[in-house]
Amino acid sequence: HIIICQTRSHFISLRRYASRRSNHNELPPYIKYGFIIPMTGLAMGSVYAYYSCLDYAPYTNRKRLICTNPKWEQEMGHKQYKELLQKFKGDILPADHRASVTVQRVGSRIAAAAQSFSAQYGQTNDTTNATTSPYTYTVVRSPEANAFVIPGNHVFVLTGLFRYAHNEDDLASVLGHEMAHNLARHAGERVSESILMTILSRLVLILDPTGILFTLLVPAQQLLVALPHSREHEVEADKIGIVLASEACYDPRSAKIDFQE
Ligand SMILES: [Zn+2]
Repeated sequence: HIIICQTRSHFISLRRYASRRSNHNELPPYIKYGFIIPMTGLAMGSVYAYYSCLDYAPYTNRKRLICTNPKWEQEMGHKQYKELLQKFKGDILPADHRASVTVQRVGSRIAAAAQSFSAQYGQTNDTTNATTSPYTYTVVRSPEANAFVIPGNHVFVLTGLFRYAHNEDDLASVLGHEMAHNLARHAGERVSESILMTILSRLVLILDPTGILFTLLVPAQQLLVALPHSREHEVEADKIGIVLASEACYDPRSAKIDFQE
């Protein structure tokens, strides 16, 4: 009974308060100003996150946001390397195969150029991956024309590539481009983008629980962020790749041979 009476009197006092407020046509201060604290926190958090993720790509000095660290990227790369070795198991060419020897020879020269590139253009916060891990070279028998380098300095070449790369200069330009992606930490940038995107989509869902903004967010992100960035990455890898190939004394004019990724 006492509880009911207390609740009732509390309810009455709230109604009085509300009617007094409505007379003055005002919201109670905790509603009127209550949003300021979380909004200030959010703004300060965003500024802090922006400046701690702000980074400049080596050589081109392109401004970018990157919130992963090179050590973590390399650990992920080593993990992915083991998975890829499992995946390609039966098709990996032995180290003394002619194709493996060629890839190893050209790759080592590009890797040496990558090391000096890193020493010249790397920043104090270890913005490139060249110096921290030795390179590995894996040649996989496959009809696919492809080559890629994953963080942790693991180079993969699929033999379909040799249909297009007719000499060592061609191979050097492809490897230069792929190592450039790795040097400039483009993989870390893509992961950072998806982390930021996840945070943003959570915020959007809080602001608009109907989900309409959220459904617009994904195509908008693709159109305004992901596609332009992927083009920027390709242009940047071309620029750095030419530096690496010519530094390793290969003919950079072969860079016209263009493989995706
Ligand atoms: Zn590329």
